[in-house]
Amino acid sequence: MEKIHMVDLRRQYHHIKEEVDRAIAEVIDNTAFINGPEVKKFQEELEAYLSVKHVIPCANGTDALQIAMMALDLQPGDEVITASFTYVATAEVIALLRLKPVLVDVDAHTYNIDPAAIERAITPRTKAIVPVHLFGQCADMDPIMDIAARHNLFVIEDNAQAIGATYRRGNGSTSRAGTMGHIGATSFFPSKNLGCFGDGGALFTHDDTLAQRMRMIANHGQTVRYYHDAVGVNSRLDSIQAAILRIKLRHLDEYAAARNRAAAHYDAAFANHPRLRIPARASNSTHVFHQYTLVTDGLDRFGMQESLAAQGVPAMVYYPVPLHMQKAYLDPRYREGDFPVTEDLCKRVISLPMHTELDAEQLAHIVSSVRSFAG
Ligand SMILES: *Cc1c(COP(=O)(O)O)cnc(C)c1O
Repeated sequence: MEKIHMVDLRRQYHHIKEEVDRAIAEVIDNTAFINGPEVKKFQEELEAYLSVKHVIPCANGTDALQIAMMALDLQPGDEVITASFTYVATAEVIALLRLKPVLVDVDAHTYNIDPAAIERAITPRTKAIVPVHLFGQCADMDPIMDIAARHNLFVIEDNAQAIGATYRRGNGSTSRAGTMGHIGATSFFPSKNLGCFGDGGALFTHDDTLAQRMRMIANHGQTVRYYHDAVGVNSRLDSIQAAILRIKLRHLDEYAAARNRAAAHYDAAFANHPRLRIPARASNSTHVFHQYTLVTDGLDRFGMQESLAAQGVPAMVYYPVPLHMQKAYLDPRYREGDFPVTEDLCKRVISLPMHTELDAEQLAHIVSSVRSFAG
């Protein structure tokens, strides 16, 4: 059996090696490393895939979130509502820009931000909502966009984990994750569902003015070279990464299907397990399984992780500490017990290997290794 990884980038690469190697060699040969034609082509292909008017490539997902908040001209002290159960990047840029992160709890089954909790957290200083499409399925965007419209708030989707997922709107139409809010932000970190061979990110919007502003901010605040209209940042996707992403974008749906097959295998194995709860599917979103995350009940989760490791099965805890209990984000507004669902998930979740290359033999071994510990 092939060694099992949380994410198997090497085997994935080997299926597209010739094409990728050729594309990288071409970029090197024509030396247009920054802003080369590959970047523009990738941008256009991603716009077509997502049915979004503008894709603005940038250096990573954290930058994408920051550029989004800068483009919306949020001011120090403005409140930005986001989920307490997420990766730190979401709150980090809010804090960096001296905005005020306002955390809210998540749904116990989908692990995504709870729209009712958003509504309760709104104050006269609230300016934006950042729903995170956690682990690969969309937060419930219809009610979130409705709340935003009623309170005149911006919505920035943190789509780092759900590129390619599809949300079914109340009116019957469908939208890709990241294209429903005013801005979507994503990451092309190697282990994300659409990952490059280094760092990368992008912003999505249907709004021409916002698109122009985000392009300007990502490029040192200039639209004409050496004329700087705003304080910006330097945040670019390089041409080698864009060339790789162009190839991987063509496989994205097939990659999501492979992840779903692995998830279905895990679901079937653990659906009726007394001490493991399988991840719930949102009724109105497809799932692209960035992570396959179980909720344990009465099991020593770190003991399980060790026991799996001893059998050659990696497992990870995403995330062990809720944002409001992270040292850097401690705030007298919050204390233990404020976000019971998040706190409970942080104590009980464990994620199994999830990627595009898991074969039947590996899946069977992972399942039997989990059973050998959990019964
Ligand atoms: C990965 C990730 C980010 C940050 O992306 P980087 O490219 O690593 O900066 C932001 N939010 C979420 C939810 C993520 O998973």
